[in-house]
Amino acid sequence: MARIVMKFGGTSMAGTERIRRVANIVRKQQARGHEVAVVVSAMAGETDRLVNFCREANPLYDPAEYDVVVASGEQVTSGLLALTLQSLGCQARSWLGWQMPVRTIEAHAKARIEDIEAEALIAAMAAGEIAVIPGFQGVSDAGRITTLGRGGSDTSAVAVAAAIRADRCDIYTDVDGVYTTDPRIVAKAHKLKAVTYEEMLELASVGAKVLQTRSVGLAMKEGVRVQVLSSFVGDDAIPADDIPGTLIVSEDEMNALVEKGDMERQHVTGIAHDKNEAKIILTRVPDRPGSVAHIFEPLAKASINVDMIIQNVGRDKGETDVTFTVPQSDLARAQALLEDRREDIGFNRLISDSKIAKISVVGVGMKSHAGVASTMFQSLADRGINIQAITTSEIKVSVLIDEDETELAVRVLHTAYGLDASDEVA
Ligand code: ASP
Ligand code: MG
Repeated sequence: MARIVMKFGGTSMAGTERIRRVANIVRKQQARGHEVAVVVSAMAGETDRLVNFCREANPLYDPAEYDVVVASGEQVTSGLLALTLQSLGCQARSWLGWQMPVRTIEAHAKARIEDIEAEALIAAMAAGEIAVIPGFQGVSDAGRITTLGRGGSDTSAVAVAAAIRADRCDIYTDVDGVYTTDPRIVAKAHKLKAVTYEEMLELASVGAKVLQTRSVGLAMKEGVRVQVLSSFVGDDAIPADDIPGTLIVSEDEMNALVEKGDMERQHVTGIAHDKNEAKIILTRVPDRPGSVAHIFEPLAKASINVDMIIQNVGRDKGETDVTFTVPQSDLARAQALLEDRREDIGFNRLISDSKIAKISVVGVGMKSHAGVASTMFQSLADRGINIQAITTSEIKVSVLIDEDETELAVRVLHTAYGLDASDEVA
């Protein structure tokens, strides 16, 4: 017997018909002898609708009241799922954030979970009751409702799994797992049996959004085994057992899977692309101590995330060009901040370009294998794709290229690293 958290996203919860499908999956999972807690999102589109109401009511809304409004979407779906489970003959009840409680910090609309008191929940589950928990919501020390930031139900599910020491946290979504790359771009992309936490973090942060990034960080910290899978399957299956998705595990567990022959060792696990960055070039910045600090300090103060940074070697007259990327949505703000500081920084021209894309190859395999980066550069060069910037980490190499070449680059690299489905041995 295992203790399992099952989390269902907004698409799976959109309407009573779909909630009935979910209830059936949950019921069958429990009928196999497991203790089950379910974490649910609001119906698809509902949170957006609620956010809009807040904006209409008061553009300068109080985040505490915003949380009261937006947390309601999950309250509705948790109650409906409990009702539906009861109609199928199951014992079930909802546990709202303040009832467990899920204690969070005060930061409304972007709260972080500090602690979950799960004793009552564990006792109810042991007595055969299915616990239904609204994701996304918690309660502050002041006793007010908080929410965890958009996409936060994934984090709720992982936090509940950690609190009840679950054997697994199954995240049901509208994709059936994590792929080697975006299957809309590469038809030969294939579903991965497993990825490590680190790989998942890198893939999520560079645009392969399946889970809220924070949930993956939490799973890594707490050692929660997560599985991503689809809730849209035939009526008889229990997806998690019969049609497994992608497991997100520690590197040790991954190594064990490879040794058992369940996974093939690859140098590159996946390829991600991100078109949501913009590039800024500052020309003729004085090449002296402190000038780079002058550029990035105002951006940091404005919470603008700078990603890739290149400072060229100084040219004559003690000047240099500095190139870096920021999220496209922050480009206008970044430009304004830098123009304001033109005197202090002392640059000549500010050139921006949002028609760029970041392509990343990710894999724990590259820790122990040389040549991954050079394969990337050569494959892109062979297709005449120009690289504008490069960054690397222990398990990732990213390059910046022209946005129009995104699809071509992803396809070329997918083939170059032997990831096309027909090449797969596993
Ligand atoms: N309903 C919330 C949102 O749409 C939380 C979630 O679904 O994860 O952001
Ligand atoms: Mg989601």
